[in-house]
Amino acid sequence: MLQKRDDTNEASIKSTYKFWTDDELRIIRLHPGFTAQELCELLPGRTVDSIRSKRSRIGRYSYPEDSVCIVCRDRPLWAESSKASRMLLCKGCFLKEMDRRNKEARYYNALRQSEFKLRKKA
Ligand SMILES: [Zn+2]
Repeated sequence: MLQKRDDTNEASIKSTYKFWTDDELRIIRLHPGFTAQELCELLPGRTVDSIRSKRSRIGRYSYPEDSVCIVCRDRPLWAESSKASRMLLCKGCFLKEMDRRNKEARYYNALRQSEFKLRKKA
């Protein structure tokens, strides 16, 4: 539901910031050829400027339409993260992957350190 807001009051605009829903982001992604003005008609409650800045952040042609995560093949790509969408992962799989990489990096560093210590002793 749209909240009534006083456009002259900066603070009230900030306090009524509406997070973008997956459906809204999907509409933007499905119409790369539309102008922000044309998208504005499909997105009630969004201004041309907000659509323009959102699109510049997620990219007009950032990835193929309707892409799903390459790991779970179920959830949509995490569009808000350019790194996750480049890796073709949804949010959950991206977080799992980064967690695994961190653990692997720690393990690798520990192995290197113990090898280094062994060489020093020899
Ligand atoms: Zn996934």
